[in-house]
Amino acid sequence: IGGGTKPPLSTYNEEQRRAIAHKNGPCMVLAGPGSGKTTVIAGRICEMIETHHIPPEEILVITFTKYAVKEMKERFRKTGIHGAGSVTFGTFHGIYYGMLRQVYDLCAEQILREDEQSTIAEAAVKDVERTNGTRIGDKDVLLMIGKVKNNGGFQGITQDPEDRQVYHAYEKRKKAAGKIDFDDMLLLIYQLFQKRPDILKKWQERYRYILIDEFQDCSRIQYEIVKMLAGQRRNIFVVGDDDQSIYGFRGASPAIMKHFSEDYPEAKIVRLEINYRSAAHIVAASGKVIKNNKNRFPKDLRAVHDKGKPVHVQEVYDMAEEADYVAAAVKEKLKSGVLPEEIAVIFRTTQDAAMTMSAFMNYSIPFFMKEKAFHLYEHFIAEDIKAYFRIAQGIRQRNDFLRVINRPNRYISRTALEKERTDFEDLRTFYCDKEWMIDRIDQMEEDIREIAKMTPYAAFQYLRKKTGYQEFLCEYAKEKNLEQSDLLGIMDEIAESMKKKESLQEWIKYTDVYTNHLKEMEKEDRFTEGKVAFLTMHGAKGLEYRFVYLIEAEEGIVPHRKAIRDGETEEERRLFYVAMTRAKEQLTISYVRQKNGKDVHPSRFVQELFTPLHPRASR
Ligand code: ATP
Ligand code: MG
Repeated sequence: IGGGTKPPLSTYNEEQRRAIAHKNGPCMVLAGPGSGKTTVIAGRICEMIETHHIPPEEILVITFTKYAVKEMKERFRKTGIHGAGSVTFGTFHGIYYGMLRQVYDLCAEQILREDEQSTIAEAAVKDVERTNGTRIGDKDVLLMIGKVKNNGGFQGITQDPEDRQVYHAYEKRKKAAGKIDFDDMLLLIYQLFQKRPDILKKWQERYRYILIDEFQDCSRIQYEIVKMLAGQRRNIFVVGDDDQSIYGFRGASPAIMKHFSEDYPEAKIVRLEINYRSAAHIVAASGKVIKNNKNRFPKDLRAVHDKGKPVHVQEVYDMAEEADYVAAAVKEKLKSGVLPEEIAVIFRTTQDAAMTMSAFMNYSIPFFMKEKAFHLYEHFIAEDIKAYFRIAQGIRQRNDFLRVINRPNRYISRTALEKERTDFEDLRTFYCDKEWMIDRIDQMEEDIREIAKMTPYAAFQYLRKKTGYQEFLCEYAKEKNLEQSDLLGIMDEIAESMKKKESLQEWIKYTDVYTNHLKEMEKEDRFTEGKVAFLTMHGAKGLEYRFVYLIEAEEGIVPHRKAIRDGETEEERRLFYVAMTRAKEQLTISYVRQKNGKDVHPSRFVQELFTPLHPRASR
């Protein structure tokens, strides 16, 4: 569907038509991936305008990402329907920002950027630590705050007294800076609508029809606001799939679909059961995985398409091999006439993509990254290692020296480093009467000499294990409230990128080329045509591609180590399910066996593809 004009109703199946024809009152489409939920939203808007003559200005369409908004707008531009341009499309935050601006003197600068928000959170943690005289352990403060806000405020949400303290400290600092954060917009609009029925009424009159895509990822507060907006008219049309609820960390829950049917008992419920997207093999395989979740509405989903090719699972030795495997396979596809934009590479987090991206660079395959790319080699760990390597090569820059002299901590004092001392000899002179310090300096010099003789991979292992750098990192993580496992993951990535590099210099050069390429790519303004898509599992939601490569399907990656630790793997399974179900023709899943010298295991979700669903009771 798409192309020149509005598709005729005959292109839809009966259930889809039932949803599209829905005029007034609440309606919920609850259906699996590729069944045409987003298509139905588009079809219904056309129908509302053309058949029911609803003024397009009265239609509000909410989707989850700016990217989806763009896609949806594009779709309507193409239909050529008169007035389709006056429909309001937006994300929750985008729409509420617009509404708030009409009441408050709000400018974009007042909304905290990500980095500003992190700074405030860090300071808040310090405040609490000072008050309590204790350290706050490993904790993602911003995640906690976001979750609280998306749950509609503080009361009864977090029982943890320390969390409450941090939350208040954060709010205090934020207010003092005269700023609001992204999620405050939700709280502000909620309070505004409660306090000012006149303003609420105005918006209720303006948007008489509300449509929401990806409803399963609506947070509590987002839902409450939408309910207020829908008001007595109750013209609220939502489409979603509880199996694709993947924003639990932000306060969304698959239970929202249930809440809807309780809040709107008169709602028309439509279930779509035909998958138009994927080859039957893919529908069957993904179904097999998601059935392992207990917490879900059971669904039937059958494919219209033929079986197609079976899901291909590829075991590779390490990340370099995986990256090469994917790049070579994609190159083949392109040679056979497949367009780059018909292909996607999907991974758990942006940092997982580094190796594969550099393989694409080597193969000269054009690609873009939907999310902000993770600049692996500008991460402080990579910077530390580069500094060590440069020193080992005999390049003496004061910055490098200062950077690593106390990483790990060698207790070299600030005074010792004050003058232009960038040499071991100078330091020895400074500490001439302290033998234990001289020992430390000698040791460091010895380490540097050792590293200089090694390949980058060996040098990295030496740094990690022999100099105490890894222990330093673990301590550092504690001190800065960073996830220790994140840092270890980054170490794995860095280590893997060093294999096959002969010299320290070669690796440094490689990191420079990679980083520059990324920066060039980011300048190109998200122009996606003629490029392979690199997507996180979260970012892939709602999209579809002829060929999908799902990489790093390993325990610890997906399900993520944090999820395994917390025993929350159902959401991870949904994520994996979202990723699998993006593929139309062929899905290739790969996993590595070895990373940074450690064995890794294929994801349990990969194993679920092969295990019978109901193991016999006799076992
Ligand atoms: P997701 O849950 O992944 O967001 P969805 O339910 O929104 O999936 P769509 O993206 O709307 O599914 O549709 C999937 C594909 O099926 C699209 O390419 C769409 O054009 C096609 N499609 C939907 N309905 C029909 C139909 N009745 N006939 C033919 N193709 C259809
Ligand atoms: Mg969709």
